[in-house]
Amino acid sequence: MTDVLLRGGLPWGLGAPADILVRAGRVARVSLSPVEAPGAQVHDVSGQLVLPGLVEAHCHLDKTLYGGPWVPHSAGDTLSGRISNDLGRRAELGVPSVARITALLERMSRAGTTHVRTHTDIDPAAGLRGVEAVREAAAASPIDVRQVAFPQHGVLTNPGTAELLEEALKSGVEAVGGLDPAGIDRDPVRHLDLIFGLAGRYGTHLDIHLHDGGTLGGWELRLIIERTKALGLRGRVAVSHAYALGQLDEAAQDHLVEGLAEAGVAVVTAAVYDFPVPPVKKLRAAGVTVACGHDGIRDLWGPYGSGDMLERAMHVAYRSTFRRDDDIELALEAATVGGARALGLDDYGLAPGDRADLVVVPAGSPAEAVVVHPARTLVMKDGVVLHN
Ligand SMILES: [Zn+2]
Repeated sequence: MTDVLLRGGLPWGLGAPADILVRAGRVARVSLSPVEAPGAQVHDVSGQLVLPGLVEAHCHLDKTLYGGPWVPHSAGDTLSGRISNDLGRRAELGVPSVARITALLERMSRAGTTHVRTHTDIDPAAGLRGVEAVREAAAASPIDVRQVAFPQHGVLTNPGTAELLEEALKSGVEAVGGLDPAGIDRDPVRHLDLIFGLAGRYGTHLDIHLHDGGTLGGWELRLIIERTKALGLRGRVAVSHAYALGQLDEAAQDHLVEGLAEAGVAVVTAAVYDFPVPPVKKLRAAGVTVACGHDGIRDLWGPYGSGDMLERAMHVAYRSTFRRDDDIELALEAATVGGARALGLDDYGLAPGDRADLVVVPAGSPAEAVVVHPARTLVMKDGVVLHN
């Protein structure tokens, strides 16, 4: 494997131009003085910012219509309208489609994304078709794609789903999902016991969609914290959306943030539409891992989403009313090392020994990279330059 030398870039966090030598898929040296590397492939990235590869921690690849003709959104304004629109038009539009997923992964890779965690629908009607389609597209992509077996239409209220979730985990799906244990399944204790049981049995990660808001959502977060601690699943549990965290009063919020930190539960936000965004700054100050993702990307749930995680970081920063550079950097952290931590990836960053998943952008600072989200000039995965 050829060594690669990135000459003169600005590694995030270093504060000065440096040479980065990559060897055998890892960052070998980060040096303020010029590195001599005979035989290395050299890329001059002077004046440009070098970031760790972007991590998309929450999307739905199996649902995407990306890469095909524009499909005008046809659902009504209610959740039930969106669910019936999704179920009703899938066959007509060929969802899930390996070609569409492939097109989206290609777009994501060009935009510097090196890891993706995607929630794949599992239910008796779809079976494991989505899991197989995502697997097929992922096998041909340089992106490291991990799936969450996602019960989009409920577990307890949709007989046969629990067995399929287990089948998905047996087949190698990396995480088990959940969905509004109260709002959809109407029995939070049983719902959570079931999915935590699966995660414990199969040694997988767990990522729960929690839209349930207010005190109800807050109470469900406590149930998640309790189970994470009881089963010793620190670092393997994430709550996606967690609207309640953004809605509760300060005291209730503080109490939950402390609990999440203590249990090692990550929070994943998409910052879409006008849905509540968890308090990113407070969560980070308490040591809670914060990650982000697009949620749907151009699908039957909505027409938005570009696959660009710097643009998504901008939405997270904007919705969090971040203006100062150091605040905006928290959103970039969620789109890089925060996402990596949520996915359980070790050695993620720009230090010697870290995996060489890197992206170069023509920006003078991390905050500028987020706000402008310019075209990527170089993308590297496992020490190999994929795009430049
Ligand atoms: Zn989602």
